[in-house]
Amino acid sequence: MPEPALAVPVIHEVNPWVALAYLVAGVFFILALRGLSSPSTSRQGNRFGMAGMAIAVFTTMLLKAPVPEGQFLPEPTAADLATLVQILIAIAIGGGIGFVVARRIQMTAMPQLVAAFHSLVGLAAVLVGLAAWLNPGAFDIVDTAGQILVTSRIEMALGIAIGAITFSGSVIAFLKLNGSMSGSPIMLPGRHVINLGVLAAIIVLVAAYALSGAGGPGEGLLIVWITLLAFIIGFLLIIPIGGADMPVVVSMLNSYSGWAAAAMGFTLHNTAMIITGALVGASGAILSYIMCRAMNRSFISVIAGGFGADAGDAGPGVAKTDRPWKRGSAEDAAYLMKEAETVIIIPGYGMAVAQAQHVLREMGDQLKEHGVSVKYAIHPVAGRMPGHMNVLLAEANVPYDEVFELEDINSEFAQADVAFIIGANDVVNPAAKTDKSSPIYGMPVFDVDKAKQVFFIKRSMGGVGYAGVDNDVFYMDQTMMLLSDAKKMVEEINKALAD
Ligand code: NDP
Repeated sequence: MPEPALAVPVIHEVNPWVALAYLVAGVFFILALRGLSSPSTSRQGNRFGMAGMAIAVFTTMLLKAPVPEGQFLPEPTAADLATLVQILIAIAIGGGIGFVVARRIQMTAMPQLVAAFHSLVGLAAVLVGLAAWLNPGAFDIVDTAGQILVTSRIEMALGIAIGAITFSGSVIAFLKLNGSMSGSPIMLPGRHVINLGVLAAIIVLVAAYALSGAGGPGEGLLIVWITLLAFIIGFLLIIPIGGADMPVVVSMLNSYSGWAAAAMGFTLHNTAMIITGALVGASGAILSYIMCRAMNRSFISVIAGGFGADAGDAGPGVAKTDRPWKRGSAEDAAYLMKEAETVIIIPGYGMAVAQAQHVLREMGDQLKEHGVSVKYAIHPVAGRMPGHMNVLLAEANVPYDEVFELEDINSEFAQADVAFIIGANDVVNPAAKTDKSSPIYGMPVFDVDKAKQVFFIKRSMGGVGYAGVDNDVFYMDQTMMLLSDAKKMVEEINKALAD
């Protein structure tokens, strides 16, 4: 009787030049993250990121394993060149689409674009995992007996699962951010039990696949079920998250896409991908934690999919315009701000819609010429993506030392003469402090009610913020509503200031 073939794990030789190039790319990625941590260095950070990615892609295109003894890169064959041409065509198509989309996209649609890109990373992880399962030899993940290595099975199954969760979760986030689906939380009865059940089933199936030896139809079924259930759980985790909690979802899916890429890196034995994926995964997780703190939400409850969201199921509402409120004009605002000592400007999503950041900076400059102290107050969830307001103000060359985070400026509203709210709403809504039934309850907000005078720019009294709740600031004694498109109103104020 013939001896059964002994399963010997494959040892992957690492070309020292490739390892060095990936290390350099990794250092560039770390410098990129460091640069992106402040608006003043973010452009440089982006350049580092692009350089790192160029090195990683170029090296990967040259890479072939295993490398013969004493030779750093093997000579290309005709077949290799054919593959290289195919890769370059794919890069040209994908890169071309990305270039056109990125150039055409409105700044206000950036959050949904980011969600769409995350979904592609997730889908790529699923497809690479499935390709590795269908053709393990090409991925160099078989032992001498022709079986897929146990470690590779685990990496592949986890890569597929995380990728599928990222894909379906990002599609739902895209639909919600794009307004193609209601932003209100969708609460399925018994959702926590269903979520836990599906997650447990995925873990059991991954373990079963890792331990299954012989291949065949049973094994294929396991992979299909892992993929399907992971698609379902991604969907289930995101639909109950709604309203004001969406920023956490955006950063969380960013983190998931990083872990999916890292898992893919293990399957492909690509260290650059593991490093990049881990950096994106970890930085996304830290950002999610920071956003949770900003929203006063529990990290666990959000990643578990709407745990604790029951208090705020209110969907989009309308402002109760039957209460008395005061309408002001550009001239009123210009006159009162010229006389003020301190003006704190609170930008929000409406400023992004109106693209009013440039005229706003001109207003700040004019006020400073009149001896007014001008500060910009940025809420971590203002706008529709993390850092949205910082990016817009930086684009308009607002000096960085005039821009303050919530916790650094909130105590100053009590001494401020004017709180100038331009297109913000939820981030100044006192219901977050007082109304336990509100979907934004618990979220720290700017204390604009403490300022002596409040100007509130929005287009109509009927419109509400993203969370869909009425705002008591509209009806305060010291509030003047400036109802207009933000850019138009600030242009008029600038004219009045100049007269
Ligand atoms: P909101 O969405 O709460 O309010 C926007 C305000 O802008 C509304 O009052 C709207 O009123 C007004 N507006 C819209 N267009 C214009 C325009 N052209 N000119 C003047 N005003 C305009 O914005 P905030 O920035 O205060 O809050 C952000 C919300 O979005 C939070 O709930 C946050 O959780 C959520 N979110 C944030 C994300 C992030 O990562 N930062 C991601 C996803 C959601 P009107 O229609 O009457 O003009």
